[in-house]
This record gives sequence, structure tokens and C-alpha cells, in this order.
Amino acid sequence: TPPKEPLPIRRLQESLINRIAAGEIIHRPASALKELLENCLDAGATSIRVTVKDGGMKLLQIQDNGCGIRKADLPILAERFTTSKLSTFSDLSRITTYGFRGEALASMSHVAHLSVVTKTKTETCAWKAHYLDGVLVEPKPGQTADPKPCAGNDGTTIIIEDLFYNTPTRLSALRSASEEYSRILDVITKYAVHNPKVSFSCKKAGSPSPDLSTPSSSEIPQAIRLLYGHSIAKDLLHASFGPKNNTDGDEEMEEEKASDSWTAETHFTNANYQSKKMIFLLFINHRLVESSRMKRALEAVYSGVLPKGASPFIYLSLQINPPRRRRQHQIADTLQRSLASQSHSRVFEYQTLLTGGLAEPEQSTSKKR
Ligand code: ADP
Ligand code: MG
Repeated sequence: TPPKEPLPIRRLQESLINRIAAGEIIHRPASALKELLENCLDAGATSIRVTVKDGGMKLLQIQDNGCGIRKADLPILAERFTTSKLSTFSDLSRITTYGFRGEALASMSHVAHLSVVTKTKTETCAWKAHYLDGVLVEPKPGQTADPKPCAGNDGTTIIIEDLFYNTPTRLSALRSASEEYSRILDVITKYAVHNPKVSFSCKKAGSPSPDLSTPSSSEIPQAIRLLYGHSIAKDLLHASFGPKNNTDGDEEMEEEKASDSWTAETHFTNANYQSKKMIFLLFINHRLVESSRMKRALEAVYSGVLPKGASPFIYLSLQINPPRRRRQHQIADTLQRSLASQSHSRVFEYQTLLTGGLAEPEQSTSKKR
């Protein structure tokens, strides 16, 4: 029954808030893995080894041979908003582009047991650290929380254990271990296609042979052949493209174009290949993303060449530079239009103000009217 009187508003416990926030970023083992893979690639790894127990719910271990983490940084590694990838305010635009925000490891420490073993080139031994709720913790009662020296290769191993042990709702939303494992394999497969110079492997803990293994220094078509099979690889087309280059503009315009640029690279099957379900790998600025809209648009292109019910394989990599100045113009244009529709007499005044205020080469906003 609804209360007759208003109930008091209470502040949620900090730990609960953190767990909820973490659950927004880490939905399942495969989404944790995706974040961890990106960290390995950001660290310049050429080899990434994944070990999984119980579909990643019991154990998710990722070993790379990247640059490692400085020992001095270990105490704040799992704090929220700590990152080595952004430092200045102007870097902020990259947050949305590349997804850097220093939240992945922090999130994992709130919904799992997180440990790290890492060694930089200059360090003589590796360091091992354990985290809980954003901070270093002692691995066993009676020990200190400080990172402990240990043997280890150059690079980083991240160990995630008992994912969602403290968030039963997330845990119960997960599927069977085998289904979670196949999602993990799917993520690694896609990153392996996109990063053919990096060697990837994935195995179940205790299993002698990996379920997925790629060589280093390959090329995208070879990676597709290895991971998706010959029937797709033999019917692949390739294209790379971007905005048309106009070389006769002045220097300011050239600069504008550079900051406005985008490129696309794609490998896609021809009409000979027909799959029941579309296989779609979409990377935007090297991050694997889902876009049902893009998927539908591309599928529609094939509806003219493939029989009903048949679908293609498409790998598409987009690189988009945030068009900062263009955005400024668009915002200004939008403002101007709504102002114009309100009062015709004042448009002129506003436009003068705007052009003066932006102090940038004007792309003649007036021609639109
Ligand atoms: P972000 O990637 O957005 O910076 P994360 O929480 O994913 O945030 O990682 C925090 C920081 O930890 C990174 O900025 C990086 O300095 C370090 N780090 C994480 N994983 C690795 C790794 N595999 N190798 C080297 N450094 C790493
Ligand atoms: Mg990260």
C-alpha cells in the first residue's frame, strides 16, 4: 500500500552507489574483457593471452606484453577517474572519441576481486597488487596492502575474480557459462580482426590448448580467413574511402578539413556469400561498437543483391575526428535559424555579432537562405 505520509529521503550508501555505477559500465564478463583488451592495446601490447573460468564469472585473466604500469601509480590505479591517457583540458574531446575516462578498472574493483601483476622495462622485478572498492587491500589478513615484489615478465596481467559476487541482480542476468564464454570469444575474435599485428589467444583455465589463437604481424584479410573461415575470405571485397580532398582551398580551410576528417576501411562479402545471420564488425576510432542503425542501413544495401533471408559479412572501421569548428558553426546556424524565425528584423544584427565573435573564416552562413 502506498504511504499516506511522505517517507524520509535517505542517502544511498557510498558502496551501493559505486556498485550501481560499476554495473552501468560492466554488464557481463565480455564487457569487462573489452575494456581490458583496449587497455592492453593502448599499452602497445603485441601479444594478449586470455584465460577464462566459468564463462569469466569465476576468473578472467588477461596477460599482455605492453608497457606495464609504474609502481608509483599502483596506489591510485583503481580509483575512479585516474588515467594516463588524458592530462589537459583540451584532451577532453578525446574522451568521447576514444572512451578514455579512467573508470574501467575502478568499476571492476567495485564488483569483483581485482589483482594486477605488472612490470615495466626499467623495473627489476614485477609488482603484484590487490584492489577492492577502488583501493589497495591486503591479499591476506595480517599482510599489508602495499604492492608485493614478484617474478614476472614485462607487461601487465589483470586478474578479475568472482565477477558480480556482490551484485546478485547482475549475476542473475547472466546466461550460462558457455554462452558467456562464446560472447568473450566473439569480442576477442573481432579485436583480433581489427588488430592483425597483435597475437591473441584465449583458453579455458586448465585446458591444454587455446580455443582461439592468432599470429602476430598478419593482415586483416588473413585474420578474417583464420577466424571466420575460407568461405567468407574467398568472397571478400575491400574499400577504403573518406571525404573528397579539395586541394585548392586556402590554408585555414585545409586546417579545417584536417580537423574535420574521417576515413573508412571496409572488407565485405560479395553476392556469392550468403549467411543466415549478418556478421557485422564495426569499429569507431578503434573501439568495437554496436549500431543497429548502421547495421540495418548496410543490410538494406545487400537486399538488392542477395536472396531474401541471406546476409553478408561486413567489417567496417571508421576513424572520425571530432569536427570541433564545424560543430561551432552548426550550433551557431541552429541558433540563428530559430532566432530568425522569431524576428526577421534582428537577424542581421545577430549575424554580425556572431561573425565578429567567432573571429574565424566565415563559410558564408548567408548562402543557406
Ligand atoms: P582508462 O583506460 O580510461 O585510462 P582504465 O581504468 O581502463 O582507464 O585504466 C586506468 C589506467 O591504468 C590506464 O590509463 C593505464 O595507465 C593503466 N592501465 C590499465 N591497464 C593497463 C595495461 N594492460 N597496461 C598498462 N597500463 C594499464
Ligand atoms: Mg581503459
